[in-house]
Amino acid sequence: MDGLQNDAAAVLQTVFDRQKDAFSFAHAEDLNARRHKLERIENLIRTRQDDIVKAIEKDYGTRSSAETLSAEIAMTLSASKDLRKHLKHWALPRRVKNGSPIPGKAIIQPRPKGVVGVISPWNYPFQLAMIPLITAIAAGNHVMLKPSEFTPHTSKLFEDFFINDFDTAEIAVVTGGHDVGEAFSALPFDHLFYTGSTKVGRLVAIAAAKNLTPVTLELGGKSPCVILPDADIAEAAKTIAFGKFYNAGQTCVAPDYLLVPKDQAEKIGKAIIETTTDFYEDLATEPDYTSIINEDHYDRLNKLVSQCVSEGVALLRTPSDEQALKAKRKIAPTVLLNPAGTSAIMEDEIFGPLLPILEYESVEEAIAFINKRDHPLALYVYGGGDGCDTILQSTTSGGACVNGTILHLMIENLPFGGVGHSGYGAYHGERGFREFSHDRAVFNLPKWVPKSLITPPYGKLFYTLLKKQMR
Ligand code: NAD
Repeated sequence: MDGLQNDAAAVLQTVFDRQKDAFSFAHAEDLNARRHKLERIENLIRTRQDDIVKAIEKDYGTRSSAETLSAEIAMTLSASKDLRKHLKHWALPRRVKNGSPIPGKAIIQPRPKGVVGVISPWNYPFQLAMIPLITAIAAGNHVMLKPSEFTPHTSKLFEDFFINDFDTAEIAVVTGGHDVGEAFSALPFDHLFYTGSTKVGRLVAIAAAKNLTPVTLELGGKSPCVILPDADIAEAAKTIAFGKFYNAGQTCVAPDYLLVPKDQAEKIGKAIIETTTDFYEDLATEPDYTSIINEDHYDRLNKLVSQCVSEGVALLRTPSDEQALKAKRKIAPTVLLNPAGTSAIMEDEIFGPLLPILEYESVEEAIAFINKRDHPLALYVYGGGDGCDTILQSTTSGGACVNGTILHLMIENLPFGGVGHSGYGAYHGERGFREFSHDRAVFNLPKWVPKSLITPPYGKLFYTLLKKQMR
């Protein structure tokens, strides 16, 4: 935080203090007020829909508006409607069985946590900031949001959005780079929700630990996609290409690499590239084929391809005018055939439109390959029958999708989160409401219960009940 101006840190602290002072459990109890806030946000999103599409387009260069409308706007709106619809039910105190010898009511009472911090990344800059934010609001919290510095137009829009229509004591946006992120994660939030890289996630968890702030880490990693021998290749190619080249591969749950049966890499690679020629007429001018977010990521991805080529790895690419693509900071869908497991492209999450395909001899070998690596955020399997079940049973991952990619994320009732190096905690739907709530355990001891049951001197009744409990 050395580089951060003292006044910037002071501003963060002031906003935090204001939110903390304004928060009260009694006030947060009001479910109508929470629902009303969500409705106002939904109305804002609808009226400013075009501004959102334009801001993200400016941040990317080219960003498929169809993908912005579906993955950013529609997903946020449906999440908000779902929260409003179920809020009353989820917020109800839940009576649980009292299995103890002492009579009384045992109740779980969901409470707001207080002031929640949300740090978001650039790849889906609207959705990944807004869904945590609205879920935290639904749970009765105040929220401070720190969006990514790589999407300044979207961040500016957030500022306008909330400054004009909401009290910063309840919803506030602070902008800036990693230094602001560092100062932000050092604030003593009641919960900190972070989406981004595993490397920064670790720093956020360390900063939060100093305040004993509970954290949700939504991280990335290399998500494998296994094609079993009985899979329909032509069908699989369509949904693999969809999940891999959506947002030009800049998706946390994009299939990172394929594991395919021996001698199938080229055939499957060709089927995927052929599919992309059906998807996109001319990559450079195609508005639904998205640019790489910035020069650094563009260079990083091109370097990965050059490294593969220098290692003698064969590649298949969607035909395109390279110069025209470069001018738009786009990279053609690229399949890399059989790179070594130790190649740079197999080290870190690719996060771009490059797809290595590796061959396996047996399903057991594919499982061992996955299990040797960090637990992924997503896992995909194509095929039917036992092979599919064996892979799901023998591995773990944040989420999984069978005969499809990335779609599990859209199911509101499925928790979304990682495991191990792909993160911890989860959200979406009810799971999100619980993540941003504290489950207070309340035990209500009836007046009529004889206190001799629990207090010294321990008498006959006490020992009778104790014996029963210890049986
Ligand atoms: P990033 O980690 O570089 O940045 C994310 C956010 O953290 C930004 O707002 C940034 O300013 C902030 N930040 C940077 N340094 C910080 C620090 N020291 N302390 C606190 N905050 C800091 O990630 P990115 O490049 O924006 O996003 C890409 C990564 O995010 C990929 O790994 C991707 O898989 C992952 N991701 C995960 C999910 C998920 O839901 N699991 C979703 C999208 C992206």
